[in-house]
Amino acid sequence: MFHTITKGTLVYSVADSLSGAAHGFSTRLGGVSQGYLASLNLGIHRGDSPENVLKNYKIFADALGFSPEDTVFPMQRHTDLIRRVDASHRGEGLFRETEAVCDGQITNVPGVALVTFSADCTPILLFDPVRRAIGAVHAGWRGTAAGIAAKAVAAMADAYGCRPGDIRAAIGPCIGKCCFETDGDVPAAMMAALGDEARAAVEPRGAKYHVDLKALNALWLSRAGVTNVDISPDCTACLCDRYWSHRRVGDRRGSLAGVIMLK
Ligand SMILES: [Zn+2]
Repeated sequence: MFHTITKGTLVYSVADSLSGAAHGFSTRLGGVSQGYLASLNLGIHRGDSPENVLKNYKIFADALGFSPEDTVFPMQRHTDLIRRVDASHRGEGLFRETEAVCDGQITNVPGVALVTFSADCTPILLFDPVRRAIGAVHAGWRGTAAGIAAKAVAAMADAYGCRPGDIRAAIGPCIGKCCFETDGDVPAAMMAALGDEARAAVEPRGAKYHVDLKALNALWLSRAGVTNVDISPDCTACLCDRYWSHRRVGDRRGSLAGVIMLK
């Protein structure tokens, strides 16, 4: 189950499935950014000042129990690439350039805060309390069709010996089926990847389709053997006063972040 946490003006959510790991999913509330980035923008390429972004990380980090210096950013490009990171990557993104393109990161090193960015796409955090390993995944519709959530589980098994049955997952706030209207290409990609079971997550409406990215990612996780999964009920587009939504406001917007770290 997801819970909303409010600390002063800061609002974020946490999941029972990840208890034992420092983690959280941000909203757009509680930061210092101004104008169309008001107020908690956690993206470094959104037109914000580096000082404001760093202050926002400090606010979010203090609440969750990590430091801005612990963060490792991915260079997200709607791929299905998973990167294994360690302490040498701390600070990549916020304090120096990130070199590697990837849409998922995994680690088993305490004190490394994995970050995933979104503004409608699906953020997924993974935690294996037995082998002590974590993952953070960005799944837009392309990443969802490519099964990046399942690939992250497989990568954790390969790298750290995780058993999928031990891994717990949280699917964070993202655009819901209510608002994710697509053409036929998106459902076709899901059906090609997942077969008939994907059909339950697709609703035809006239010439368009409404697609449930949370359900599709939960299906990938289930097939990978991960059954302890919490799913945020929130739609970023319905709740665009609370979340950054690309679909609602376009490119002039901040970024949400999902963060997880082994203590
Ligand atoms: Zn909605």
